[in-house]
Amino acid sequence: MSSISSQSGKTVPRLLLDLVRYDPRRSVRGHNILTDPPPQFEENRVPPSTIAKGSCRHTLMIKNTQSLTPPLDSRPDNTTIYKVASFCQDCRCHVDLVVDFQNDPWKAGPCPNEDFPLHHLLHVPQHAQDRTVISEPLSPDGETLEHAFRCSAPSCPAYVTIRLRPPRLRPEHIKLLTDKTLLQARFDAAISADPSREGLRLASPSEALSILRRFILDSLDPKSGRVKFPARNKRFITAFGTDCDELLDRLGFSYTGSENKGGEGAWNLPRPDVSPDPLNKNAHQLLLEDVVEELLVLAWQRTEAEKQGIATLIYQPVPAMRDFERSLGSIGYDQAPSARRNVDLTKEEHPYYASLGAVGDFSDALLGFAYDRQAECDPINVPYYFEALQDLAQGRQSEMLQTKVATLASQGQLSRKDIARAYSYFGFDPKHAGAITDDIIVSQFQSRLPDVGPSQTEEMREVLRTLGRSRKSRVLEQTASNMIETYSHALAWLGAEEYTEDEFIIAMFTIKVDEDSNNITIGRQALSIIADARRSEHLHSFLVSGQPPQARMERKEALRMFGQDEDAKIDLDNLETYYQLYKDDPSVNKGDFEKAYACLKNESHARRDSMMNVETSKSPPSESPVGLISNGATCYLNSLLQYYFSIKPLRDLVLDWEAHEASMTQGTTMREGEVISADQIRSAQKFTGRLQELFKSMITEPRNTVTPHEDIAFLTFLKHDALVRPANESTAVEQANLTNAAHDPEAEPLVDSLNAGSNSASQVVVQDNMTLREAAEKAARQQQD
Ligand SMILES: [Zn+2]
Ligand SMILES: [Zn+2]
Repeated sequence: MSSISSQSGKTVPRLLLDLVRYDPRRSVRGHNILTDPPPQFEENRVPPSTIAKGSCRHTLMIKNTQSLTPPLDSRPDNTTIYKVASFCQDCRCHVDLVVDFQNDPWKAGPCPNEDFPLHHLLHVPQHAQDRTVISEPLSPDGETLEHAFRCSAPSCPAYVTIRLRPPRLRPEHIKLLTDKTLLQARFDAAISADPSREGLRLASPSEALSILRRFILDSLDPKSGRVKFPARNKRFITAFGTDCDELLDRLGFSYTGSENKGGEGAWNLPRPDVSPDPLNKNAHQLLLEDVVEELLVLAWQRTEAEKQGIATLIYQPVPAMRDFERSLGSIGYDQAPSARRNVDLTKEEHPYYASLGAVGDFSDALLGFAYDRQAECDPINVPYYFEALQDLAQGRQSEMLQTKVATLASQGQLSRKDIARAYSYFGFDPKHAGAITDDIIVSQFQSRLPDVGPSQTEEMREVLRTLGRSRKSRVLEQTASNMIETYSHALAWLGAEEYTEDEFIIAMFTIKVDEDSNNITIGRQALSIIADARRSEHLHSFLVSGQPPQARMERKEALRMFGQDEDAKIDLDNLETYYQLYKDDPSVNKGDFEKAYACLKNESHARRDSMMNVETSKSPPSESPVGLISNGATCYLNSLLQYYFSIKPLRDLVLDWEAHEASMTQGTTMREGEVISADQIRSAQKFTGRLQELFKSMITEPRNTVTPHEDIAFLTFLKHDALVRPANESTAVEQANLTNAAHDPEAEPLVDSLNAGSNSASQVVVQDNMTLREAAEKAARQQQD
């Protein structure tokens, strides 16, 4: 365990709860409930027990003679040291707690205080005595264990030492004092040694225990004046006989033979150096004091009948827990309303509490504090603590904690589950996270990328970002973030759709950036791609100025400014001309005129894009129409048809063909002195109709290709003669259109742009004597040049 950079701790109530369950005699192999962090909780798995079967849940009673407890209403300062000595009524182990505030004069703000309502204690593994301290009198194989903790609060000097000693009286000693057969044998021996001696009485076990206790109490009290007693003392001889000598020796009793010839031997009481200072008692005094406590408890635990008539047997133990709490400043800590009672040791709380170094009755605020301390002291395991907090917040239905969780999540905090899910997403076992390199993850990501659609791509990047954050890997984060390249990806990144309006695109962008300011670069990238793809003034303006364009002009009003009625279709070239013509006219309001121009230009772009953007959901709008599937040996025709399509005025004309159809069928004479047959017209109309069908399907076809109707090839090539007049004449269709267009104000731009040229693909001069095909071919040649 790393003790420097990342270490789990526990608050005082947790430490005390673990302390009363810490039974070194029966510890779980490899786990120390007092000093080790609890095993991390795994859902759907029974948590491993941290408490071995048969462990004692200590009932700790105070040993006043060895304790230095806080005076009432006192606050510790840099001269303070507390000691609470206790022992367990049940297993008779001795537990000392020393809280020392003297070890760092620079730390002058001990807990509890406003920022740190409780000590948060970190185990000090390098503590000099954090090991077995071998052998004190009476317990040759007993061990004294000592563990140290320091408070994690920066200004708190608290240094806590917990010392555990096994019982002083070992089972064989207790048997010597309480085995009725042995006591009977001692009585019998005394009688047979001196059958005439009066007043001999069989000692009960509680009497034996009490007599020994009395002797030791006398030895610890210099004022008692007792130093020895005759070895033939009636009560002594029946209680201890001669087979307890070894025990008495160990306690410091000594036997002296008779000074006078024929006189009696005597037992001298132990003579420890007695000190009243709880912090400065020598081992012998401590041993005797401990034995006194143990003997009293052992005697008290005998049957009522046996205890009767023993005047000295008064036992009024005081639980030590309150003094532990006072010394550690946890008394009256903030508890959850439903739990303002003693911690119920019989009921296991959720393991998440232990992981947070907390206990189940913590108030929500205190639970939040426990999380914060763990997160600060043990950064490596924050995702796990966050998971614990999340779960407890939900379990408690605590608004306060849920808000805290939401805030942390919005700051990018990940839970262990989030991270495990991210590894699993890429097919890795989260358990082996440590062995998986960034490179392996990147290559896994990149190998999957081509197989998924745009929305899944974004999801995959998000998962990669999660791994990047959890591993603090810039490589992963960059791989996840730096690659918005297409319109659909940009939309997917924002969570937007094709039809999402610009205003909402901006709103989504703002949310993303608010969520995480690191999103700004990639967010602008996405916005810029969308703005370009949509030719959106709105988005461009937002990118430049941080604001959408102000007060956009209504279409109707804009049209009016351009002298058009409401139903007019906007033509970009026309618009351009009009704009150039009037932009310097002093009679127009220049600002409004600009706005109207921008509004109509935008609409005109949008309309053209919707016509051209034939594969809207798969790629950004482009000028290229869908491909055509070849009808046998007609790839030449196909490329020609594609080229026709790319000439905007021609395309518009064909698509809007019905508007001109009527005028064409009315007469057969299309040009001075020349007659076109009805068949020729029908054939031309059929061709145009097929062409229109094809163009429409090229626009609406969701697939990448369409198959031209075979009539097109037939009409274009095989019936070529039917469409054109011999000797340098226009086709009926084209001539009809061109003638017609001359009188049709809407169609005028066709003539203008075809003849005058513009900056579009329609840079071709159409001559009267050209066929449609020839005109297109010429256009193609010119473009190649
Ligand atoms: Zn115990
Ligand atoms: Zn503290």
